[in-house]
Amino acid sequence: MAAPPLVDSFGRIHDNLRVSVTDRCNIRCFYCMPETNVQFVRRAEILDFEEIERFVRVAVSLGITKLRVTGGEPLVRRDLPALIRRLAAIPEIQDLALTTNGVLLPELAAPLYEAGLRRLNVHLDTLDRERFLRITRRDDLGRVLLGLEAAKRVGYARIKLNAVAVKDLVEPDIVPLARYARENGFEARFIEFMPLDAQNLWDRSKVLTADEIIAMLSREIAPLVPVPDPDPRAPASEYEYADGGGRVGFIASVTKPFCGNCNRIRLTADGKLRYCLFALEETDVKALMRAGAADEEIASLLRRTVAGKWEGHAINSAKFVAPPRPMYSIGG
Ligand code: SAM
Ligand code: SF4
Repeated sequence: MAAPPLVDSFGRIHDNLRVSVTDRCNIRCFYCMPETNVQFVRRAEILDFEEIERFVRVAVSLGITKLRVTGGEPLVRRDLPALIRRLAAIPEIQDLALTTNGVLLPELAAPLYEAGLRRLNVHLDTLDRERFLRITRRDDLGRVLLGLEAAKRVGYARIKLNAVAVKDLVEPDIVPLARYARENGFEARFIEFMPLDAQNLWDRSKVLTADEIIAMLSREIAPLVPVPDPDPRAPASEYEYADGGGRVGFIASVTKPFCGNCNRIRLTADGKLRYCLFALEETDVKALMRAGAADEEIASLLRRTVAGKWEGHAINSAKFVAPPRPMYSIGG
């Protein structure tokens, strides 16, 4: 008999797991990492591939069917294709995806595809070299574009472009990025800037909102209409160009929180389980595993963590407290 699903006290069923495989990164986006003196977890504290696969298999036995590999920058993790091969071989996983900044995709798009990966989200905020440098503090735009070409050539099914929407900065990038996505068969996704940066730069006035971007694209490219039958549990609101030019997604975590439909849990690279991106508490999977726990004990920790999940983040209230971990150390 199948195990009962992972359900929290608000009745939300959890079938979506995000696993961070490293907190390291080869670029330094200002809304995520500090520029210098980044504190990385020691290598011995990072889960190895056996531990990750074991945890994923336990989670799958409790109803997880969607898995996203993330980081830090997952492609800097040595032998990542070997991990992907292991995860792709788990038959219950219906959807395996990876989020990357694309810098190492020229070399890794093909090996990852051969290992069984079919879905990619590539982080790209701008097509302007100067602004790319300003945002990421690295001069790697050319490599990301080459990586996207490589991914397209290899045959990935659905490539999405993740762009962080920061006010008074990326406005000139919105339309060129959306056009580039349309021309290449990619789906642009705009993510409202969230209070998860390492330097506490966030404030509400720095969020370029989904509504503002929708207005811009509708005016400059073609009217955008909501997709009629969206997946109610997906974080992105999906829109379609009225001229048939494809889709655009919006992750409006700040202006239109979607906590009521949340189905996601996260495992950090150092083996901590989090029920929310913004959670202020976490449970220690790694300590349990390394103490020799049986699968049932890990399953029980998973159930308890989900059962204790809060109703949602409180970005829009005075009582909001940013989590102590910035984005790169949680896994976006
Ligand atoms: N390094 C990979 C990348 O950049 O795609 C994977 C990890 S990154 C933390 C995952 C996603 O988080 C990125 O696509 C980026 O767009 C998003 N992100 C990072 N910091 C953010 C912030 N403060 N607000 C909103 N999105 C953010
Ligand atoms: Fe690295 Fe991704 Fe964070 Fe940018 S958003 S610094 S690419 S982990």
